[in-house]
Amino acid sequence: MVSARATAAAVRDPELPVVTIEELGILRDVTERDGRVTVTITPTYSGCPAMDVIRADITAALHADGYRDVEVATSLAEPWTTDWITPAGQAKLQRAGIAPPAKKTVLTLTVRCPRCGSPDTQELSRFGATACKALWRCRACREPFERVKAI
Ligand SMILES: [Zn+2]
Repeated sequence: MVSARATAAAVRDPELPVVTIEELGILRDVTERDGRVTVTITPTYSGCPAMDVIRADITAALHADGYRDVEVATSLAEPWTTDWITPAGQAKLQRAGIAPPAKKTVLTLTVRCPRCGSPDTQELSRFGATACKALWRCRACREPFERVKAI
């Protein structure tokens, strides 16, 4: 039997299917007690509709691996920030053409185009294909790209 932790960690983010919820940094804890699995996640930002999907996906994945009693809890004790995205997750987002959000601790004045690297970019819309991504456009190569919203 795959561990409950490994099963939960392998669940992909519905907004950003190139990364798992562990790589995105929203998987906080997985505990097993008396046959009950409790998975704790932190939403990427409040109101992100993907959280319901993630909750359902985690439950379905654990059920498929034989865990019958599954609870998905939400923890808001520590707010998620883009700093929680793992280096592997950042690299995957970059390869997928989704600009990884800049580290909060680093002052960045520009968003670089994930395709050509040009800093000459502009935000077109706060809302991209999904509520969790904003739509940007590169003025150098004229390609639109999506960027994970930073808080
Ligand atoms: Zn570009």
